[in-house]
Amino acid sequence: MIKPGRIHSLESFGTVDGPGIRFVVFMQGCPLRCQFCHNPDTWDVNKGNEYTSDRLFEEIIKYKSYMDYSGGGVTFTGGEPLLQAEFLLEVSKKCKSKGISVALDTSGFILNNTVKELLDYTDLVLLDIKNYDPIVYKTVTGVQLSPTLKFLDYLKEKDIATWVRYVVVPELTDNLDSIRKFSTYLDDYPNVEKIELLAFHKMGEYKWKELGIDYQLTDTKEPSKELMEQVTKILATNGKVVTSNI
Ligand code: SF4
Repeated sequence: MIKPGRIHSLESFGTVDGPGIRFVVFMQGCPLRCQFCHNPDTWDVNKGNEYTSDRLFEEIIKYKSYMDYSGGGVTFTGGEPLLQAEFLLEVSKKCKSKGISVALDTSGFILNNTVKELLDYTDLVLLDIKNYDPIVYKTVTGVQLSPTLKFLDYLKEKDIATWVRYVVVPELTDNLDSIRKFSTYLDDYPNVEKIELLAFHKMGEYKWKELGIDYQLTDTKEPSKELMEQVTKILATNGKVVTSNI
């Protein structure tokens, strides 16, 4: 019997974390400390509510008709869902046995044998690459970039469909030279079907205050439409599909 999962929250009709209508599971726990995180309340793996894999699957299966109709499925996000890979492997096996498509939204920080097995049951990975410059990546997240790039290599080797996600934060992740290099780098990854640009916002700032953690981006502005268009154009240079949420 595997350990129950710790879950922050569930969203029944998600439309921004993968294709179609999705049942989104926000897992508790994250080893990163992104400066722009809007879910710092997911960081502690001991918080949230406990679910057995059966209980979570019972919630997911209720929405199967919506998923089928819309080409959707289930998305595991967080937090960092790979911290609870064993639990997710069990839930994903149940989902796949009923024809439910599984997506994983991850920073790609963890790649062990359980994660590799979980990826065998994963149809789509939403890979959050917070920056392509290793020094800036460390500043932004508190951890090294290299595990994420190795994770991307593994996704390529296994030919797992991947959407890369990149958050545009003025004066933090908007270095256009670094974004050009990133664009060239991604050109070698045919499994990357899409790049999703997400505009930085401060909707989670109040959570940092509630948790008593120092929020460093209080004075940072949201990116302009022009900046988002500029970044979109650079990343689309090599023929990749690029979307932007503004
Ligand atoms: S990986 Fe996601 S949940 Fe973790 S700190 Fe970064 S933005 Fe927050």
